Amino acid sequence: RLYNELIELRGNIRVFCRCRPLNSDEISKGYSNVIDFDPLHETELQIICDSSKKQFKFDHVFGPAANQEAVFAETLPVVVSALDGYNVCIFAYGQTGTGKTFTMEGTPENRGVNYRALEVLFNTSATRSSDVAYGFSVSMLEVYNERIRDLLSESTDQATKKLEIKQSADGTHEVPGLVEPEVCTTDEVWKILRTGARNRSVGSTAANELSSRSHCLVRVTIKSENRVSGQRRRSHMWLVDLAGSERISKIDVEGERLRESQFINRSLSALGDVISALASKNPHIPYRNSKLTHLLQSSLGGDCKTLMFVQISPSSSDLGETTCSLNFATRVR
Ligand code: ADP
Ligand code: MG
Repeated sequence: RLYNELIELRGNIRVFCRCRPLNSDEISKGYSNVIDFDPLHETELQIICDSSKKQFKFDHVFGPAANQEAVFAETLPVVVSALDGYNVCIFAYGQTGTGKTFTMEGTPENRGVNYRALEVLFNTSATRSSDVAYGFSVSMLEVYNERIRDLLSESTDQATKKLEIKQSADGTHEVPGLVEPEVCTTDEVWKILRTGARNRSVGSTAANELSSRSHCLVRVTIKSENRVSGQRRRSHMWLVDLAGSERISKIDVEGERLRESQFINRSLSALGDVISALASKNPHIPYRNSKLTHLLQSSLGGDCKTLMFVQISPSSSDLGETTCSLNFATRVR
């Protein structure tokens, strides 16, 4: 409750920064760590290179030692607000290899935000007043080259997996035909998330390559009904693993790869434009500039809550991309 009041005061957009550890490959190549964390201020970090320092501030900063529990502890209030009827979007943004999928999806041993969020929704709803009945369902979709694909569809026919966005009479945005199984247990959730993640890479010759060039969205629908008052509510929580934000040189790539990267750039900058327009209370919000923002239109803005994880690498070899990501994050805040 208190957190929600604080959010009201400070706006509905939170930006967290998470930096992964330096990996063995970077260490063996002799790259150094260029990110400095202030142990006293968990909201600040500095890029240090050639005696120059640049400081960045966020709502929270997670250094390489922060585990999934610590990250989720800060994410929890936003997740719980979805039970109170708020629409919520949680994004992971950053260069490929910085831990977007690790944060959102996680691994079987180190489960991420997606699984933990559903676990908390189940547990919290069970301890709330027995006057309110909750129901949860999950969908998973992918946006690749401005096309939406259903990741939970059993069909192998790509045409039936292809989806469009429709605006309903009440102004909300729907995706007709989206597979949306109901979920009651964490085991079901884990299975569904794994299925979707597997389907994400189907149809590609270089599986892990494709996943870095598409946006993966988990949509949790929360329905509640108060048995006494009869009041019904429906809200969405979107958990989004964005495509890699790295800039691709036009000199290095051509054809399909260049087209892909142009789609990615366009949709990520459309997302940045929408969030910064919301943060600055601009009356015109350019939702329609990409499939991603159009899809999320009903869950971004108004009293919806947005949390963005900006994922970075600590390595000197990634300095350029890290600076770009931190600048993007500063723009949306
Ligand atoms: P992305 O989705 O941004 O491309 P990944 O989530 O695939 O990045 O992460 C790249 C690699 O780094 C993976 O092997 C992942 O397990 C590892 N990794 C990422 N973040 C962390 C972290 N905070 N702690 C330990 N390993 C991490
Ligand atoms: Mg990934």
